[in-house]
Amino acid sequence: SKLTRREEEEAIRRSNALEQDGIGSLRKVSRQEYLKKREQKKLEELRDDIEDEQYLFDGVKLTEAEYRELRYKKEIYEIVKKRSEEDDDTNEYRMPEAYDEEGGVNQEKRFAVAMQRYRDQGAADKMNPFAEQEAWEEHQIGKATMKYGSKNKKQISDDYQFVFEDQIDFIKASVMGGENIDNEEATELLEKSMAKSALEKLQEDRKSLPIYPYRDQLLQAIEDHQILVIVGETGSGKTTQIPQYLHEAGYTKRGKIGCTQPRRVAAMSVAARVSQEMGVKLGHEVGYSIRFEDCTSEKTVLKYMTDGMLLREFLGEPDLESYSVVMVDEAHERTLSTDILFGLVKDIARFRPDLKLLISSATLDAEKFSDYFDSAPIFKFPGRRYPVETHYTKAPEADYLDAAIVTVLQIHVTQELGDILVFFTGQEEIETAEEIIKHRIRGLGTKIAELIICPIYANLPTELQAKIFEATPEGARKVVLATNIAETSLTIDGIKYVIDPGFCKMKSYNPRTGMESLLIAPVSKASANQRAGRAGRTGPGKCFRLYTAYNYYNDMEDNTIPEIQRTNLANVVLSLKSLGIHDLINFDFMDPPPSEALLKALELLFALSALNKLGELTKVGRRMAEFPLDPMLSKAIVASDNYKCSDEMISIAAMLSIGNSIFYRPKDKQVHADNARMNFHTGNVGDHIALLKVYNSWKETNYSTQWCYENYIQVRSMKRARDIRDQLEGLLERVEIELTSNESDLEPIKKAITSGFFPHSARLQKNGSYRTVKHPQTVHIHPSSGLAQILPRWVIYHELVLTTKEYMRQVTELKPEWLVEIAPHYYQLKD
Ligand code: ADP
Ligand code: MG
Repeated sequence: SKLTRREEEEAIRRSNALEQDGIGSLRKVSRQEYLKKREQKKLEELRDDIEDEQYLFDGVKLTEAEYRELRYKKEIYEIVKKRSEEDDDTNEYRMPEAYDEEGGVNQEKRFAVAMQRYRDQGAADKMNPFAEQEAWEEHQIGKATMKYGSKNKKQISDDYQFVFEDQIDFIKASVMGGENIDNEEATELLEKSMAKSALEKLQEDRKSLPIYPYRDQLLQAIEDHQILVIVGETGSGKTTQIPQYLHEAGYTKRGKIGCTQPRRVAAMSVAARVSQEMGVKLGHEVGYSIRFEDCTSEKTVLKYMTDGMLLREFLGEPDLESYSVVMVDEAHERTLSTDILFGLVKDIARFRPDLKLLISSATLDAEKFSDYFDSAPIFKFPGRRYPVETHYTKAPEADYLDAAIVTVLQIHVTQELGDILVFFTGQEEIETAEEIIKHRIRGLGTKIAELIICPIYANLPTELQAKIFEATPEGARKVVLATNIAETSLTIDGIKYVIDPGFCKMKSYNPRTGMESLLIAPVSKASANQRAGRAGRTGPGKCFRLYTAYNYYNDMEDNTIPEIQRTNLANVVLSLKSLGIHDLINFDFMDPPPSEALLKALELLFALSALNKLGELTKVGRRMAEFPLDPMLSKAIVASDNYKCSDEMISIAAMLSIGNSIFYRPKDKQVHADNARMNFHTGNVGDHIALLKVYNSWKETNYSTQWCYENYIQVRSMKRARDIRDQLEGLLERVEIELTSNESDLEPIKKAITSGFFPHSARLQKNGSYRTVKHPQTVHIHPSSGLAQILPRWVIYHELVLTTKEYMRQVTELKPEWLVEIAPHYYQLKD
C-alpha cells in the first residue's frame, strides 16, 4: 500500500534525523522491493541453521557482523545519551623505568632530569629544583580531584563521555528496539547494511560521515558565495567529500576542481580513496599531481595536488582558467606554499567571478581566514569526537624514541585491543623504531597478541602506504608509526591510543645569516591537541604524552609559527618574480614574512644571477624558475651548461632530491653496508660525486635490482631518482640547455655545483670543526658523509641539519679560488 503524504514526510524526517545521529540512514524503497528482500531473507534464514540464536534483533536473525554493527551503534547511542561535558582530565602517567621495585617513582632518575633542567636554566639560587614543578603538579592534581570528586565518580564519568567539538543536537529518539520505530522500518534499516557490493558499501560509508547531513546546505552556501571558509573536525569528510559533492552538483561541467594538500602522501592517498568511492580508475576522472609525479589525464575533473604544484600551475595558467573550483585544503597548516596561494587566489577571484574558492581548515581560528578573504562567510559543521584521556609522564623523558617504544609495548601488553598511533619526526626515527619494536616482540613470542607495524612517511612507497588503511585482523593490534602527516592530513580509523613524544621536524631560518636548518623542535599546544584527538575518532581513547603536564602548559607555544616566518624565501621570491609580481613588500600576505628574510632572498637570487640590480628576473633566473627545485640546485643545473656537464648535474640533482633514503644499513650487516657504500667514495670524491657514481653504476647494470641488493641500496629510491632525472631532462630541453657529458674530468662538475652552492662554503678549523665562510658559524661534517674522516680544508655543503650538532649533509671538497672565480661579487680574496 502506498504511504500517505504525511507518512512519507514523517519517514523522510526520521530518516534525516537518523542520519544526523550518525546511526544510519533510511532509504526509500518501493513496497515491492521491500517484500522481495524480506522474502529473500526468510529463505536465507531457512537455509541457515538455527544455532546463532543470540544474534536476534526484534525477531530478525542477523549474521554476526550485522549483530556487531548494531551493537556498536547501540553503544554509541548509549554514550550519546549519557554524554558529559568534561573533557579536560589530566592524568599522571609514568614511564616504567621511573618506578622502583615497590612501585614508587624512581626519584634518582627524576632527580637527574630535574637537575639537568635546573642547570640548563641556570637557576642556581633556587633551593629545590623540583619546587616549581611540584607545586604546579600538586595544583593540577588538586584541580582534577576537585573537578571529578571521588575516584569512583570519576570512573563512571570516564566510561560515558561523549564530547562534541561543537554543539549539534545528536540526541535523537530511540532507534534500536525503541518505540518510535516499528519492525518493518528496522528490517529495512538492517537490509540496508546487508551484503552489498564494495562500491555500495563505500557509498554507505560516505553517508555516515559527519559532513553528509550538511551536504545540501554546503552546496547552497557555495552557490551563494564566491569565497567560503569551511571548518570541520579532522576526519569529518572535508577533503574526500566536498570535491565529490561539487562534482555531483555539476561544477565539473565548467572546469576542474582542484584541491590542494600540504603533503604529497595526503594528495596521493586521498585521490586514491576518492577514485575508489567514485568507482573510477585513479588518474582518470580523479587524479593527483605532486612534484615529479603527475597522475592525471584529459579526463581528470577532480584533481588533488600539493599546494606547491598549484603554485607552479600559475606559471603556465595565470588565471587558472581550467578550474571552476579551487579548494585550499588544510589551510590551518599554513605552509609556505599555502600562504602564497592565499595571495594569488584572492587576487584572481577578483577578476574571475565564476571561480569558486574554498578555504578549508580543521581548526577553529577560521576568523582569521575570513578576515583575510574580505570577510568571507564561515561554514562550520560539527564533528564527532569521543573523550580522550590525556596522560603525561611524571618526569621529562630524556630519550623520547625509547620512551615511545616502551610505551607501545606497555600498551600492547596491558591495554585492551585497539590500534596505536605514534608520532615521530621523520623516516629515520620511524625505521629505527620499527626495527627495535620488531626485535623486542620477537623475544615475547606468542605470549602476546599479534602486533602489526605500519610505518607512514613521505618517501614510503605507495603500495606500503595503503597498508595503514587496511582493517586490523581480529585479535591483532596495529601500530602506526607516522610523521606529522597523521596529525590532520590523513585519518586512520580505529586508532584508540596515541603516543605523542611532542616533537616534529621543523625548518628554521635565521634571516640575519641567511642560514636555514632542519631541526627537531617541540610541537605547539595546537598540534599536541590535534594529535590527541586522533585517539577519539571511532571510540573513546587515550593519549600518552611523553612530556610532563608542566612542559605542556609552560614550555609549549600555543600555535605553530607559520612556515613563511621561519624559512628561506628564495624559492617563493623566484616564483613570484616569474609570475610578474615585483612588489613583494606590498604583496597581500596573511602574515607577512620578516622583511629581513625577503631582503635576504632577493640578495641570494641576485648573487645567483637570477635577478639583476633592479630586482628584475634575468635569463638565468627565468631558466631557474622552470625547475621545481631549490634555487641553488636549479642554478647548479643552469650553470652546468657552461661546464658541459648537464648530464651529470641532473643525475646529481635527482639523487639529492631523493633525500636520505638511498643507502640502507641492516643492523646485522652494518659493516658490509658501510664497505659497499665507501666503494663509491674511492678517491675521496665527495658525496655529490659519490651519488653520481651510484646512479651511473646502476645505469650500467641496466637498472638492475640485484645490483641494488648487493650494494645495500634501496631500489625504490633509485627508481624514483630515475623518474626525477627523466623529468629534469625534459625541463633541460624546455629551457634549451643541451645534454652534455664530461666523463673524464670531475672538476667541471664540482664547479657547476659550486656555481649554485657557493653561499654554502665552509673552512676547516684547528679542532676539526668547520666555520661557514660568509656568516661565520661552527658546523660539522655529518658522520654519514664520505669525507667525515678526511676533513678537507674547504668544503661546500648541500644542507645543514641540526641534531646534536649543526651538521653539513652532502659535502664536496672545494678549491677556495673557485669561490672567487665563480662568485666574485659574493666573495673577495682577503690575502
Ligand atoms: P577531513 O578532510 O575532514 O579530515 P577526510 O575527507 O580526509 O576528512 O576523511 C573522511 C573519512 O574518509 C575518514 O574518516 C576515513 O574514514 C576515510 N578515509 C579517508 N582517506 C582514506 C583512505 N585513503 N583509505 C580509507 N579510508 C579513508
Ligand atoms: Mg582533510
